[in-house]
Amino acid sequence: MAFSVEEASAKILAPIRALPAEQIALGDALHRVLAQDVHSPIEHPPWDNSSMDGYAVRAADVARAGPESPVVLAVLETVAAGRRATQPVRPGTAIRIMTGAPIPDGADSVIRVEDTDGGESKVEIRDARDAGRNVRPRGEDLAVGSLAAAAGTVIGPAQLGVLASVGCARPLVHRLPRIAVLVSGDELVDVDRFDEVRRGERIVSSNSYTLRASATAAGADVRYLGIAPDDPAAYEHMVRGALAWADLLITSGGVSVGAFDFTKDVLRALGADMQLWRVRMRPGAPIGFGMLGEMAWLGLPGNPVSAMVTFELFGRPVIRKLRGERRIFRQPIRVRAREDLSIAAPLTHFLRGVIEWRDDGPWARPTGPQGSGLLTSMAAANALLVIPPERPLVPAGEALSALLLGDDALLASEFAL
Ligand code: AMP
Ligand code: MG
Repeated sequence: MAFSVEEASAKILAPIRALPAEQIALGDALHRVLAQDVHSPIEHPPWDNSSMDGYAVRAADVARAGPESPVVLAVLETVAAGRRATQPVRPGTAIRIMTGAPIPDGADSVIRVEDTDGGESKVEIRDARDAGRNVRPRGEDLAVGSLAAAAGTVIGPAQLGVLASVGCARPLVHRLPRIAVLVSGDELVDVDRFDEVRRGERIVSSNSYTLRASATAAGADVRYLGIAPDDPAAYEHMVRGALAWADLLITSGGVSVGAFDFTKDVLRALGADMQLWRVRMRPGAPIGFGMLGEMAWLGLPGNPVSAMVTFELFGRPVIRKLRGERRIFRQPIRVRAREDLSIAAPLTHFLRGVIEWRDDGPWARPTGPQGSGLLTSMAAANALLVIPPERPLVPAGEALSALLLGDDALLASEFAL
């Protein structure tokens, strides 16, 4: 059966559910996904506090202060952050105060130290511009019961800080997906057998590296099962190694129509509701998918570029969904073609491209030859350029969709704002 990319994506994601939750230490929660809403049990900040180093005063006392007519106030004491004043500010007095310290009773303003003489027993106020200012009210950031972070939030540095501020020492997060990676092919060896590659007998299994790295970068706990030979019994034995552990088994190779492509037979024999489709895309084409009990199986093609592109389109969203993320797809952006882009077959093409940001927006060019074995085309790319079958020629200067592969297309070598 042949499916469009959209249909294949929907079929693969349909049985996938977010993994169960666990409580972990906040310090370990970077990149995890919250499994429950977190509300603040406190007001944050917990007290009205000063946003300046200066003098807590009453606005009425300083309203007429100016460079030519300074106001002199008696300084009652000094409060550092982490301390409280022992007395209120009364008319004609000030309390010297540091940033973050609680505003003393009676004060409604903090005069920045730069507008004073910095005095310690009495102070000269030389400007009224801070009258009524520089007081950060309690609860300004978070009120009691307010939502600090919502379920489904990916915990980044800022979210970690917010969770810490509201005392969430052990957030409830989704368990990390366990991904097993298995490649197959009698022609493959690992890099430690590179002498056989030099002799022209074997090739290195680059998919072992690209797929493990892609799954790790997507935020999963990855176990590598190794290189299976083109032998059904040995292959089955290695697949069994994933069964008790993995949430998702990713395989590459052996899903096409070659004489040694028995991946689907093995998975079917193990009880998978085995499905195999030709997806109307290039690179890619044969994709296998099925559920083996609780474990999902995603069979990617063996060609190195096809394996990576199909991982991007189908594998990464599965991992994101298992992780509990809400936004699981890459957002296509509009770019303009720097040269004519054409495709020969009526399939959705994903050209490896380079996007450059110019003053008038993003422009894209292909990396060069686009064969599905040319892994250097993937290494040179920062985006996939999407050419749909109904538009086989995109003339230079016209707009098309692109999927950014990471944030490097948004990096610059020069400082700019
Ligand atoms: P297959 O999908 O098994 O028919 O393989 C298609 C092509 O991809 C063949 O040229 C294989 O040699 C190559 N290939 C398969 N698996 C890998 C791998 N793990 N690393 C690099 N190339 C591979
Ligand atoms: Mg093969």
